[in-house]
Amino acid sequence: MELYELNLHDAIEGLKAKKFSPEELFESCKKRIDSCEDKIHAFITRTEDFAKSQLASNPTGIFAGVPTVLKDNLCTKGIRTTAASKILGDWRPPYDATAWKYLREAGAILMGKVNMDEFAMGNTCGNSAFGPTANPNDISRVPGGSSGGSAAAVSAGYVPFSLGSDTGGSIRQPASYCGVYGLKPTYGMVSRYGLISYGSSLDQIGPFARTIQDLQLVMSVIGNYDPMDSSCFREKAHDFTHNENPSIKGKKIALVKEFQDFTLDAPIADAMNKIKKILEDEGAIITEVSLPVVARYAVACYYALAMSEAHTNLERYDGVRFGYTVKDAAGIKEMFERVRSDGFGAEVKSRIIAGTCLTEPTRCEEYYVAATKVRTLIAQEFSRAFGETDFILQPATPSMQPKIGEVDDDEMKGYEADLYTLPVNLAGLPGLSFFTGYADKLPVGLQLIGPRWSDAELLNAGVIIERHTGSPKIANGGAE
Ligand code: GLN
Repeated sequence: MELYELNLHDAIEGLKAKKFSPEELFESCKKRIDSCEDKIHAFITRTEDFAKSQLASNPTGIFAGVPTVLKDNLCTKGIRTTAASKILGDWRPPYDATAWKYLREAGAILMGKVNMDEFAMGNTCGNSAFGPTANPNDISRVPGGSSGGSAAAVSAGYVPFSLGSDTGGSIRQPASYCGVYGLKPTYGMVSRYGLISYGSSLDQIGPFARTIQDLQLVMSVIGNYDPMDSSCFREKAHDFTHNENPSIKGKKIALVKEFQDFTLDAPIADAMNKIKKILEDEGAIITEVSLPVVARYAVACYYALAMSEAHTNLERYDGVRFGYTVKDAAGIKEMFERVRSDGFGAEVKSRIIAGTCLTEPTRCEEYYVAATKVRTLIAQEFSRAFGETDFILQPATPSMQPKIGEVDDDEMKGYEADLYTLPVNLAGLPGLSFFTGYADKLPVGLQLIGPRWSDAELLNAGVIIERHTGSPKIANGGAE
C-alpha cells in the first residue's frame, strides 16, 4: 500500500507512531498528483513550496503533517485565490479563511487550491476560467460541482480530505459523483469568514473525505466558533467524536412524498432501495413526509435569492480593489464595463443580470421579497417534517455522472437537478452525501438530511450505513 492511499485517520495514526514521516507522506501524495493531474486537472494552483515551508517548521496539532487541498474560493494568505474567475487575476488575500486557519493551526499541509465553477455557480466544475476537471472514476465524465476539484482530489487519492463550499448542493452533488463522503454542515456551524461570497445566506463550508470518521475529524477542527463571522454559532462546540457503534434503532427515516413521482436513474433508484433495507435491518422505521412547498417552489425560490445575493456580492469586482483590471480605459465607466465584461464568465454574468432585475426597486417586492417569504415557508415545512421524522433520505442528484460537455446544452436541466440539494440550504439544514456502492464502476451516492444542528447525529447514521456498504476505493484517476 502506498502512503497516499491512507485515509485521514490512518495517516494521523501512522504519523503519530512514526511509521513514516510527514515528508514521506507529502512525497507520496505529490507523486500521485504528478501521475494523474494531466488527466484530472483538479488544481488551479499547486502550493508545494508553501507545503514544504510548513513541513520545515515542524507542524503540531491533530492533523500535523497531513496534506489537504482547498476549494479556490477559500482565502489563503499570500496565495493566489481565484474563485475560478479571470476577474480575481493574481489576487493574493491578506488573510486566511477561518476554516483554513483552524486546519493550518491543527497542522494540515496545503498542497494547493482546487478547481470549481466560477464563483461556485454551477454543478459540473465546467464553468471555470481554468477549464474543466474530470471525474477520477471515469475521466470522460464530470466530477460534479461546484466543488468538483475538492471532490476529485479526494477521490483520486491526492489528499485524504479537502474543503469545499455548498450554496445549493456544491459539496453533496460532487461527493456523490466522485464517490466520496461530503458534509454540508448546518448554516452557522462553520465560519464563513474568508469564503468568497456567492449567496451569503446560503453558503456553508464543509469537508470531503473517504470515510465518515474522517469527516468527523475534520468537523471537530473546523466546526468551531469564530468571532469573525456573526452568523457563526456561539454555543459550546459540538461533539464529533467517532462512535464505533452508533445505533439507529427506533429512529424514523422519511422519504419525501412529492419526490416519489420524479424519475431517477436506475442505479440511484436501486441505491435508495438498498439503503432503505439496510436502515430497516438496523431497526430504523421508514416513513414518509410531505414537502409540497419545497417540491413546487424551492428551485425558483433558491435561484431568485442566490442570484439576488450574488449580484450584490459581486458588485465589489470593479477592477480597482481586486485582481484583473484594464489600464487604458478612457474613464471609470469604461473601466468598470471592460473589466466586468472580460473578467466574468457567461454564467456569472447572466446571474448578475438576473439578480439585478430581481432586486430592482419596482420588482423587488414581487420577486426578491416574495422569495424570502417562500423561504420562510420552506423552513417551516422542514420544521414540521422534523417533528415527524428524525432524518430524510433522498438522492443527492437524480442522475448519474454526465459526460463532460453534455449538460451544458440544457441549462434548465442543471437547475432542476438541484432540487434534491438546494432546499437544505434554504432551510439552513445539514446534509450528508454518502457512498452506497458502484454501478458499472461508477460510484453511486445518496443523501441524508437532518434538522438544524443534527450534524453529529447525521454522521453517526452515516457510520451505520458505511458499516454495510464499505468505504469507497480510491479512483484509478484515469490510469488504463
Ligand atoms: N448548482 C447550484 C448553483 O449553481 C449550487 C451551487 C453551489 O452550491 N455553490 O447555484
